[in-house]
Amino acid sequence: MPAAQATLSRRSGVPYTDFPAQFQAQGREVLEAIERVLARGDFILGSEVVECEREFAALCGVRHAVGVGSGTDALILALRALEIGPGDEVITAPNSWVSSASCIALVGARPVFADVRDDFLIDPQRIEAAITPRTKAILPVHLTGRCADMEAIGALARRHGLAVIEDAAQAAGATLKGRAAGAFGTIGCFSLHPLKNLNAIGDAGMVVTQEDALAERLRLLRNHGLRGRDEAVLWGLNSRLDTVQAAVIRCRLARLATVSDARRRHAARYQAALHGLVSCPADRPEEYAIYHLFMIQGDRRDALQQFLAQRGIGTKIHYPTPIHLQPASRGLGYGPGDFPVTEAQARRILSLPIHQHLSDDQIDEVCKAIRAFYTGT
Ligand SMILES: *Cc1c(COP(=O)(O)O)cnc(C)c1O
Repeated sequence: MPAAQATLSRRSGVPYTDFPAQFQAQGREVLEAIERVLARGDFILGSEVVECEREFAALCGVRHAVGVGSGTDALILALRALEIGPGDEVITAPNSWVSSASCIALVGARPVFADVRDDFLIDPQRIEAAITPRTKAILPVHLTGRCADMEAIGALARRHGLAVIEDAAQAAGATLKGRAAGAFGTIGCFSLHPLKNLNAIGDAGMVVTQEDALAERLRLLRNHGLRGRDEAVLWGLNSRLDTVQAAVIRCRLARLATVSDARRRHAARYQAALHGLVSCPADRPEEYAIYHLFMIQGDRRDALQQFLAQRGIGTKIHYPTPIHLQPASRGLGYGPGDFPVTEAQARRILSLPIHQHLSDDQIDEVCKAIRAFYTGT
């Protein structure tokens, strides 16, 4: 058999995601949970939603969790609950998923960007420089599953009288100095999208807060502003966490710690093997990063990605186009060169497979391929 064919027939390759493996590990349990919902028939805001919210609040160590339709809706509802709208400015990071900024624009406010640090997290000094009399809130993003510098951001917010809305879409279960992502700000927003580390089997999101009045407002806003069956006390959305999704998320929550530990072990293995070849995210003693993404930075990124793809190794770029350079941002008046750290990273970043079902052999295979690309050995 020719060498090339032998390589192809060997079971090799490292998929970026592995949903079949997740189904194999937990499928029965998930199907039973869904069956319970079907048997009960409480499809809208059913008992699984109530239990899921209780468990999610416990995960974050906060008083309230409110289940919503998606991570994007979580952000929109948070801004609306804080009555942020036309004439207001909200400061966020330009290197995030578009939702971090679109939510601000969608409530009629203006997204203002502040550049990030080498660790992909928003820079508190640059936030401070971006504050104006119109600023109402800071919206830091815990990108890759690592908390932003919440101590500095909290201090800034107190000094300037601003709300803090955490985009914790990538950070369910992450902590910084023992405090959970989502528990630092006025409101914390989570996505439970199938591709997140804590994943539903469709769209789903969660909002958390310590404040009773805000929680009450969020519950109204996600469900037509309804108090009781027939009284709408304000204009709300239809953005409730689906009961089937809640049942699935409860299965995932029970295993979240195991999943995060596995991802952290994978990260450590990558860090050790890739040292000196590419820049890896560094672990810090005061935090528990959950590695939703393992994002390296390297030279000749596009060629590296192609080289890995040829070897069956799946990678992604989070995200190739910074938000301020998206066509949708045109009206905001930003252009190339405005956020040099973000823009330089966008050309160098690459997310390696980090899901919990990877074996050590698969990670070694990725590292070997990266070494071969850069050193030819
Ligand atoms: C995924 C994601 C969102 C949006 O969540 P959806 O559930 O897809 O709406 C927002 N912000 C960040 C940082 C994300 O990664």
